[in-house]
Amino acid sequence: MTDNVHAASEALVEFVQRHPRLWVITGAGVSTDSGIPDYRDAAGQWKRPPPVQHADFMGSHSVRQRYWARALVGFKALSDARVGGAHRALAQLETLGHVEQVVTQNVDRLHQRAGSRRVVDLHGRADLVVCMQCDYRMMRHALHAEMAHLNPAFVALDAGHAPDGDADLETDFSVFQVHDCPRCGGIFKPDVVFYGDVVPAPRREQAQAALDRADAVLAVGTSLMVFSGYRFFRHAHARNLPLAALNLGITRADPLLSLKLSAPLTPVLEATVKRLQST
Ligand SMILES: [Zn+2]
Repeated sequence: MTDNVHAASEALVEFVQRHPRLWVITGAGVSTDSGIPDYRDAAGQWKRPPPVQHADFMGSHSVRQRYWARALVGFKALSDARVGGAHRALAQLETLGHVEQVVTQNVDRLHQRAGSRRVVDLHGRADLVVCMQCDYRMMRHALHAEMAHLNPAFVALDAGHAPDGDADLETDFSVFQVHDCPRCGGIFKPDVVFYGDVVPAPRREQAQAALDRADAVLAVGTSLMVFSGYRFFRHAHARNLPLAALNLGITRADPLLSLKLSAPLTPVLEATVKRLQST
């Protein structure tokens, strides 16, 4: 164990012992070990072109053609992703009784697969699609199978994987056949909150209510650049809740933090859980 990991886990153990019920918010950093790329660098800046905006997706057929064609190639990275050490450690932290709520900004469902039970998928889940007109839902892989059938030429394409089941594919998307809702002909969208859209109120309220029951806040693997996550930090800070962050790189909440740990997530979380299990 490096000195940095050791020092960070000691500090985190002490934080958890002092504030035993944590409200945990996670982001892309917890899933990068699982092979899912993230959008931002250590300075919180975009590493790549920003993702599709909700209004563009809803307003433009050609944007949807491009989105689904790229997803047909890129979604494999998301559906094949395996649970990582950080997911497992957070599930164990919950078993130890230290997690009031995990609020994840990830849409990969890996916390649930690792065994976490108290999870709010703040930005939705990528394995479902929803009709924007009639609310009909279906599994994403079933829709992909339909679209693969309609677009055999696209299935053979290969490209680098990008975050959120996207791929770095550039080609003529105008021939791509988009599959609309079988019930009403409406627009299908992954059941995720796109940039420029808002988190549904019930989900936001569930996360908020859990925050009001917690002793402290811990951010893991997120720069908190997206306001839907950052807003909880502002609220917690106004309530004088202690705030900690474990993230390689800056976070938007750095000025509000009482504990900032810039160290690799998985070894720090694993060492923290081990220490807590033995005390
Ligand atoms: Zn529909």
